[in-house]
Amino acid sequence: MSEIEREAMEVDVVIVGAGPAGLSAAIRLKQLDEDLMVVVLEKGSEVGAHVLSGAVFDTSGLDALVPDWKDKGAPVTTEVTHDEFVMMTEKHGMNIPLWPMPPLMSNHGKYIVSMGQVARWLGEQAEAMGVEVYPGMACSELIFDDNGAVKGVVAGEFGKEADGTPGPAYEPGMELHGKYVFIAEGVRGSLAKEVIGKYALDADKCPQKFGVGMKEIWEIDPEKHKEGTVTHAMGWPLGGNASGGGFAYHAENNQLFLGLVVHLNYENPHLYPYMEFQRMKHHPKIAALLEGGKRVAYGARAVTAGGWQSMPKAAFPGGALLGESVGVMNYARIKGNHNAMLSGIAAAEAAAAAIKAERSGDVLEAYEEDLRSGPVAKDLKPVRNVKPLVTKFGLHLGLGFAGLDMWTNSLFGFSFFGTLKHKKSDAAATGKAKDFKKIDYPKPDGKLSFDRLTNVSFSATNHEESQPCHLHLKDASIPIRVNLPEFDEPAVRYCPAGVYEVLEGDDGPKFQINFQNCVHCKTCDIKDPSQNITWTVPQGGDGPNYGNM
Ligand SMILES: Cc1cc2nc3c(=O)[nH]c(=O)nc-3n(C[C@H](O)[C@H](O)[C@H](O)COP(=O)(O)OP(=O)(O)OC[C@H]3O[C@@H](n4cnc5c(N)ncnc54)[C@H](O)[C@@H]3O)c2cc1C
Repeated sequence: MSEIEREAMEVDVVIVGAGPAGLSAAIRLKQLDEDLMVVVLEKGSEVGAHVLSGAVFDTSGLDALVPDWKDKGAPVTTEVTHDEFVMMTEKHGMNIPLWPMPPLMSNHGKYIVSMGQVARWLGEQAEAMGVEVYPGMACSELIFDDNGAVKGVVAGEFGKEADGTPGPAYEPGMELHGKYVFIAEGVRGSLAKEVIGKYALDADKCPQKFGVGMKEIWEIDPEKHKEGTVTHAMGWPLGGNASGGGFAYHAENNQLFLGLVVHLNYENPHLYPYMEFQRMKHHPKIAALLEGGKRVAYGARAVTAGGWQSMPKAAFPGGALLGESVGVMNYARIKGNHNAMLSGIAAAEAAAAAIKAERSGDVLEAYEEDLRSGPVAKDLKPVRNVKPLVTKFGLHLGLGFAGLDMWTNSLFGFSFFGTLKHKKSDAAATGKAKDFKKIDYPKPDGKLSFDRLTNVSFSATNHEESQPCHLHLKDASIPIRVNLPEFDEPAVRYCPAGVYEVLEGDDGPKFQINFQNCVHCKTCDIKDPSQNITWTVPQGGDGPNYGNM
């Protein structure tokens, strides 16, 4: 329990995070019992401000939640009309035929959406049903009851000085207590990380795997824009240096959603994911598409990639992990929104039944059961070996085996490989700088490619500068003493927002953290090879504003 005196509010279910998972849970709770008191707390300045996705949207979660979403005006209108998969070399791109791929890989019947807009729409639906949705409220602490179960969160603490002491405009925030607390913070949530550790929820699971996804929105020449076209690309620029791939989705209003996901298990610490993305845009095929257009927004966010075998136990005493906080991203399909929504629905159904039976603060085993055997499991299990196969056999052979494995799993529910394991964490996969070549990246030209700080200004990121730095070093000496000599301090490269710098001074190198630039992607918390950086929430309302990402 925190030592500061705070007002407490008692509700039925407290939900941390107004992404697709948290909002779906809120809506389903109200659908099941309109008298339930449900509160959703969101750190972004508005609902959707911190939601960053591709996004090709599989509507299975939305169909289950709001079957008449079309009549209700959901911002889900651009149907996929053309789906292509390209293997890239530096100068060329070869279309791979789609027919050998299992049907689960098809994007037909899916929609190109802005998930920020979809989240805002879900927020409106929730509020219309009586859910209390509070944006600008960062949940900074968990509160436990006498039996060690989670009973609530601290939300809305504002106005601390840089040294952590209360400033003149200090607001202690309040405690929100619930019969159940849902943690729907997305990838690598700070409260999720705490509960996973406290209850050893990942005890017999593989380490979670991640990627960092970077995305720009471009307005392109209408002559070149083909609304409904979805392109996924592999190969160059990452080649053998890292796994991952690019995407280009032709959305409405001549917009192109362009991005690159770089998997964080790369070994070469000199790799610079942001610069890989920038040089990707100079590929002749992509450059031709972008020329004459303009970049209107930028953002970055981690994604989970471990899938089925890395999902921690989702239910814990007093609450549950939802969506990407439990790692529901389908790596092969590059989709997580539908599963985030389905997990929210399942958690809500378990909690509503438990509350009806006058239970509270216990473990929602019915939710765990649904996650392991229901629609999320059916989506994730058939692709569980794709990532380990690509890691083990490389892009071409690995994808060949993965295709075969997805077919046998889809047709017969059987895999020749059983369930392959992920071995190391992404942090532990990082190799020593001396064992790898430096990579020479071309300078951004300011037309197709941009330097990091210019791009960060296109994420509308803002942090009140007088607050404490929300990126904590367990040991302040490690960046210069350990990471610099051994790994050439990769934080200066893996962060897609230029938060970390090594400055040369008269007294030698100095590590600087520009937390004001942080776009809340969480890559530092994941990839730091010394696991020395802890991402915590800054005060509510700060961070990027992705609006239409
Ligand atoms: C580049 C990229 C491309 C992608 N492409 C696709 C795609 O094409 N199709 C697809 O289906 N999926 C895609 N995904 C994955 C998809 O975006 C995620 O699976 C989905 O967003 C997960 O939803 P969520 O609700 O679990 O988490 P999020 O959408 O991350 O929402 C979590 C919310 O919780 C809030 N929050 C976090 N911590 C706190 C706290 N302590 N207090 C208060 N609020 C908090 C955050 O601000 C955020 O609003 C992509 C992801 C990325 C990064």
